[in-house]
Amino acid sequence: MPTCYLVSEEGAHKPINLPNLQPVVLGRGPETTIKDKKCSRHQVELKAECNKGYIKVKQLGLNPTSVDSVVVGKDNTVKMKPGQQLHIVNQLYPYTVQFKEDLSGNHGGTKRPREPASEDKESQREAQSMKAAKHADKGPVSVSPEIVPKPNESVGHWSQGLKASMQDPKMQVYKDDKIVVIKDKYPKARHHWLVLPWQSIPSLKALRGEHCDLVKHMQQVADRMIQQCPDKSSLRFRTGYHAIPSMSHVHLHVISQDFDSPCLKNKKHWNSFTTDYFMESQDVIQMLESNGKVTVKEGTSEMLKLPLRCHVCHKEVSTIPALKEHLKSHFP
Ligand code: AMP
Ligand code: ZN
Repeated sequence: MPTCYLVSEEGAHKPINLPNLQPVVLGRGPETTIKDKKCSRHQVELKAECNKGYIKVKQLGLNPTSVDSVVVGKDNTVKMKPGQQLHIVNQLYPYTVQFKEDLSGNHGGTKRPREPASEDKESQREAQSMKAAKHADKGPVSVSPEIVPKPNESVGHWSQGLKASMQDPKMQVYKDDKIVVIKDKYPKARHHWLVLPWQSIPSLKALRGEHCDLVKHMQQVADRMIQQCPDKSSLRFRTGYHAIPSMSHVHLHVISQDFDSPCLKNKKHWNSFTTDYFMESQDVIQMLESNGKVTVKEGTSEMLKLPLRCHVCHKEVSTIPALKEHLKSHFP
């Protein structure tokens, strides 16, 4: 039977043993050395399934825990395999898992789970998609892996939705050998597209220097989309990424700045496009060129809670309906 360890990528402390099938609750405290008040003392519950070669990650705290930058969600459970990255809270405190063979030599015929190779990326997505189902009235429950439908038997978890949409000809508005552009299914403005690479890249966090050309190509195609838009002379556009995305598979938002859409419903939607939570594509390219990775500022998740403020004249408004009314003056 292999033994499972949770390893701090920052080397904040020694690896933490996760005993097979025993839930371990971690968060702020001496064990992790996390002092951040945003992190609950009971932030995550981790359960190793050593025979299966993964752990189950359940978010207990209010602030987001994520696996490969995709938010788990309070009371949800996802699987995490070696090669994937867990952030305990707010995209901070990175961890990986390792399974090591029992040194007693009693391997019980169990195969050691291998490190996922790049062709295993899809199964990593699969692990992500096997999130717990939420029962509307009975409260959240986690679903054991045996009864989770296989992805090709179900629509999968909502966070995997872009993967289906990018393959759907009805959603595609442009494609070439490297990328595809789709219409955002819940557009937050009159024009809202997503540019996605065919290459399986889970999120902004996974981008490296070698992706520079691809990301520049995504930007060029985004610019072309804007140039071809009939409203280009009356509307301004922005192109960028959500610092902490909710959907898996890296995607560049191309969005007109009218924000005239019934799908824009709450403060989180608004602030995700009008504060620094929205990272300009050019800034992302620059970070990749100079640092070989994209860094998200600490406290970014807090931006979603900022007061509602008009992005044109900066007037503060108290509610979304009032904001929508106000926007009519700028975008008749
Ligand atoms: P984010 O992950 O925060 O960058 O945003 C994901 C975007 O994907 C949002 O603008 C959603 O409206 C959009 N979206 C969600 N589900 C789908 C889907 N199945 N197909 C296309 N777009 C989607
Ligand atoms: Zn205004």
